[in-house]
Amino acid sequence: MCLPAPLDIPALPPQTSAMNSFFKRLFLADFWKGMILTFRTQNPKYIYTEQYPQERPMVAERYRGAPRLNMNPETGETLCIACNLCSLACPENLIVVGWHRDDATRRKVLTNFTYDTSRCMFCGLCEDACPTDCLELTQDFEMASYTRESAIWDRHRLEEGPTPARYTR
Ligand code: SF4
Ligand code: SF4
Repeated sequence: MCLPAPLDIPALPPQTSAMNSFFKRLFLADFWKGMILTFRTQNPKYIYTEQYPQERPMVAERYRGAPRLNMNPETGETLCIACNLCSLACPENLIVVGWHRDDATRRKVLTNFTYDTSRCMFCGLCEDACPTDCLELTQDFEMASYTRESAIWDRHRLEEGPTPARYTR
């Protein structure tokens, strides 16, 4: 097969190239190109302002946020069996499970549970490892605090669960 010979396009003389560059800068060609692109993709009918915190934004269904320790809704007892699997699964080693063994039942009993939210990357490995669905990463996203110490949540706070603030004017 015979391919056509490539077009022999002569290069612009250096004076023309410099003139082009000069006029592009003079008339802000790149600026207007950017503005056209911006306004082409910013259709006013799709623009809205989130009224947070008066209105809480919707978060994705599978968002992983503030941790919670779930309780048995019928008995009010913790679902945690102190198996320590969440702690072992955590790549950050930020979960500490405290327990003792009940002499009568020979079962482990949860005594304490701490979760350092400041080091958590919300990967969900701990949640996946939990065999009783006790540990859950909820959809609450307001976890800011003023001190590092208050970022470490204890059992009481984890069992209480997120208490999202309701803001009013
Ligand atoms: S979400 Fe990931 S980083 Fe956070 S405690 Fe669970 S396993 Fe650790
Ligand atoms: S994996 Fe679940 S049941 Fe086991 S210690 Fe962690 S929270 Fe408790």
